[in-house]
Amino acid sequence: MKDKGNQEYVKRFNRINVLNLIRKNQTISRQELAQQTGLTPAGISGIVRELVETGYVRELGQGPSNGGRRPIALAFNPENGYILGAEITRQTSTLGIVDLQLKPIAIRRTSIEMGEPEKGLSLLVAAMEALVAETGIPSGKILGSGFAIPGLLDRHSQILKRSPNLGECWREVPLAEWLEVLVGRPFTLENNSNAAALAEYTLGAGQGIKDLAYVNLGEGFSTGVILNGEILYGSRGYAGEMGHTVVVENGPLCNCGNRGCLESLYAVPALEHRANLELGLYGPDDSLKSVWLEKGRVDIEDILVSVSEQGPYAKELIRQAGWSIGMGIAGIINFYNPEIIVLGGILASAGKALLEPLAQSVRTHAFPEVVQSTRIERSSVGRDAAFYGACLGVVRRLFTPEYADNIFAKERG
Ligand SMILES: [Zn+2]
Repeated sequence: MKDKGNQEYVKRFNRINVLNLIRKNQTISRQELAQQTGLTPAGISGIVRELVETGYVRELGQGPSNGGRRPIALAFNPENGYILGAEITRQTSTLGIVDLQLKPIAIRRTSIEMGEPEKGLSLLVAAMEALVAETGIPSGKILGSGFAIPGLLDRHSQILKRSPNLGECWREVPLAEWLEVLVGRPFTLENNSNAAALAEYTLGAGQGIKDLAYVNLGEGFSTGVILNGEILYGSRGYAGEMGHTVVVENGPLCNCGNRGCLESLYAVPALEHRANLELGLYGPDDSLKSVWLEKGRVDIEDILVSVSEQGPYAKELIRQAGWSIGMGIAGIINFYNPEIIVLGGILASAGKALLEPLAQSVRTHAFPEVVQSTRIERSSVGRDAAFYGACLGVVRRLFTPEYADNIFAKERG
């Protein structure tokens, strides 16, 4: 029996290995596959025949000859299945469907109140299924669902330990257990910053780079670190909480329970709170002050508009944020020596007003030789980075020998 099990595994391994080679090349011939895998031409022919039959591989006709008979070019068919993904946030989640090469079919932002975990998750899954129905893609063609979620996600138990950004009720939430009941197909869970880091690594600013850190500058300051091509999880999966570095002893109370964390001073809620307190005392000759007088309060969008108009109050606020965030990033650079730091989240869209003081602070606070080998750039995937990362998590898992059965399952509706 054991031998039979081994044979089955080898067969699955070879099949998925060949499929992955085809997936990673624009086109490839059977001869090249045989050379690269060490399998016999007959073995390759058998596997390719199966892959063509299941629809994952297309024959594109004859490629260029290098002397003998012209080989037939094989290519991956990214539309043989789709991935359903979601980035979950407190008020507005991003839902969408992509093909197997991450090409978006439909992406939308939907208002779902996530304050109550069980209710929020069932609304979210229902909205995702409604999106599938709208696109007309048969449900059986959705090979998996990926979820990106803020907070401490235990990578072993898949329990969400705590998520201050989603709300007080998000403690010890048995995410995997609940989604198992709700989703009805394979799914993956990833912390939102890890997911965004994966998206930048695969599709964005970090392509071809093995060591990078993604820093989300939004409601909180969480970080996803990729070292040697793999997400750095730490022992439980909680790595990357840069925003909870204490920078002011006995400073403002943070949602983690400590005082004076970087994000308690400079993340979006803190900046809005501070601007609304201080603008009353600020001289009237300021674009943000005018908005404050008119509306009674300002939010982050108003602050960013004022920055782009060179409003002195907003510029100084964002400069201070950039300088302090730079101290946190200097720590990441000293610890991990990434080749690139990718900045995402709404604050990154403040542009030079944030990036210049941030970069100067990083140069001032990190070890000089280490910082010289690090670039700092804005996210190139943009605001849907965590959504794409959620989908990538599924793709990365599906095309492994352990999950190959899900891919090759027959009789899909
Ligand atoms: Zn904190």
